[in-house]
Amino acid sequence: MKRTEISEYGEFGLIDHLTKGIENVNASTAYGIGDDAAVLDYKGKQTLVTTDMLMEGVHFDLTYVPLKHLGYKAAMVNISDIYAMNGTPRQMTLSVALSKRFSVEDMEDFYAGVLLACQKHGVDLVGGDTTSSLTGLAISITCIGEADKDRIVFRNGAGQNDLICVSGNLGAAYMGLQLLEREKAVYYSDPKNLQEPFSPDFAGKEYILERQLKPEARGDIIEQLDKAGIKPTSMMDISDGLSSELMHLCRQSGTGCSVYEERIPIDYETAVMAEELNMDVYTCALNGGEDYELLFTVPLTDHDKVLQLKDVKIIGHMTRPELGQHLVTRSGQEVELKAQGWQSNL
Ligand code: ADP
Ligand code: MG
Repeated sequence: MKRTEISEYGEFGLIDHLTKGIENVNASTAYGIGDDAAVLDYKGKQTLVTTDMLMEGVHFDLTYVPLKHLGYKAAMVNISDIYAMNGTPRQMTLSVALSKRFSVEDMEDFYAGVLLACQKHGVDLVGGDTTSSLTGLAISITCIGEADKDRIVFRNGAGQNDLICVSGNLGAAYMGLQLLEREKAVYYSDPKNLQEPFSPDFAGKEYILERQLKPEARGDIIEQLDKAGIKPTSMMDISDGLSSELMHLCRQSGTGCSVYEERIPIDYETAVMAEELNMDVYTCALNGGEDYELLFTVPLTDHDKVLQLKDVKIIGHMTRPELGQHLVTRSGQEVELKAQGWQSNL
């Protein structure tokens, strides 16, 4: 594979190279890349801003994460935060700190991933910063979006009898990570592997792998909610695990909750992988991170409307705060929800 040193381009050459051909699609992008600042015009709307910082070795491991996937995921995760406010993502800025290890081609791959995620969700890349790093790769992404003032959904609006809903299924990204970690251990366990092409065993596990490496922000759910005339009372995206996110909603809304284990949606591959690893699949679904599904509450009166939504499940309901946060297990026992939370480690 061709390797072009970044020094051949220089900082400005590299920025030009990576951002040429970017065409803005949003009316709110008044001016994008190329000056000291981008110019945005949101007219009467409210502006949503979210930002994330990712450090190599802490948040991602380049031994098994291809740079294109890393770019895609980093962008997607930020886009997901705008949807979690019931907003529409519009612009993104992307800053990178690079060490000498990275070539121009590596950065092309990374940007291909970022731009694919942006394109899928109609987001304009309007700026960033490029600098050098003595250690690994550092990435900072900011996503900007819009919403009508009365459409924004916070974490603190859930009422005491509201229904708790989740999109998609849970635990898959965590099982994907376990699979990658397992294959990495296999790879390093035999020195021969370092010399020969190594083919990890991912057969039948494509879905969980994809959920880990290529998460999808659920803009489709936001669209469905809007069409169905549902405005959630509270909402957030699930990045640290269902338990921990439920506790956030309860704490901020001043409620308790009851969630039914048997209603937690789990995909077949997730269950198979958990069994192979001798792990309890519900524990994985409750505490595994990086699902990027939406967790939201709706008033009881929206019950029938929610049943019509595709890929959304009702998993429980909010309660009076003094009842605490409970999980009703498959055997009917009530146990207190514990948020083990989760350290992202892509
Ligand atoms: P400044 O000197 O003001 O930091 P730069 O030369 O770094 O300006 O950036 C020039 C333009 O390129 C700006 O519009 C900036 O937002 C954009 N830019 C810089 N780095 C990146 C990047 N990694 N990705 C996207 N846009 C970038
Ligand atoms: Mg700069």
